[in-house]
Amino acid sequence: MSQLEIKDLNISIGSKAIVKGFSLTIKSGEVHAIMGPNGTGKSTLAKAIAGHPDYAITGGDVLLDGASILAMQPDERARAGLFLAFQYPSEIQGVTIANFLRAAVQARLAEGEELDATAYYKRLYSKMDALKIDRKFTSRAVNDGFSGGEKKRCEILQMAMLEPKFALMDETDSGLDIDALRIVAEGVNAMRGPNLGMLMITHYQRLLDYIVPDFVHVMYDGRIVRSGEKDLALELEAKGYDWVKKELAHA
Ligand code: ADP
Ligand code: MG
Repeated sequence: MSQLEIKDLNISIGSKAIVKGFSLTIKSGEVHAIMGPNGTGKSTLAKAIAGHPDYAITGGDVLLDGASILAMQPDERARAGLFLAFQYPSEIQGVTIANFLRAAVQARLAEGEELDATAYYKRLYSKMDALKIDRKFTSRAVNDGFSGGEKKRCEILQMAMLEPKFALMDETDSGLDIDALRIVAEGVNAMRGPNLGMLMITHYQRLLDYIVPDFVHVMYDGRIVRSGEKDLALELEAKGYDWVKKELAHA
């Protein structure tokens, strides 16, 4: 049983405050969804937790099982069990998916331990089959020339191979048509279980029809302004983000 605790987090880009007092605790086994309008700081939150150097944490803390991760490098955070699926995955020319994932999986083994190649490929192919990714993709460069949907499936493949304790998924639904969304959701649902905690960031309610969250939070202007269960997402879809803005204006 693990816990990821985001405590009163403040994040700036340059001199601009973007995330302003964001707090949330996620326990393993739980799926939390964050919904919010564009520009509210959702990606900033995810990238700062993963350790992106452009995002300065000016206050608060992020604790994994009680220990702060803020002094850790991004790769150390990953090895500690954090995973971020990017909203806009980067293309990595010249590095094949097979080699990329092999290096990532190898990096998590104890020093001196060698990855068993046969077992690795067996596991890779079974995860690819589940996500309906053609095996030809193993020899293609990571995300190079991929469609939006292929990039998102590649992100989920990485998550499936790395088996993190906590996964942050930033708009995994964007760029997916309905068939691809179903495949990705099936893949994510298959990974759900007592050992994985998830934070799904989404702009639209649609994703939550397929990956049903335990908790829904509305983020606005850099912080959570409302929390509830899955019905909150439906209410938000029906009333729109203006509803939240108006309520806040009257508060
Ligand atoms: P969301 O994911 O909720 O749409 P973002 O976290 O991407 O929001 O952006 C929040 C704010 O921070 C926006 O005003 C955006 O323009 C700004 N921002 C995000 N990333 C950068 C960056 N690398 N440089 C400058 N401004 C940025
Ligand atoms: Mg975003």
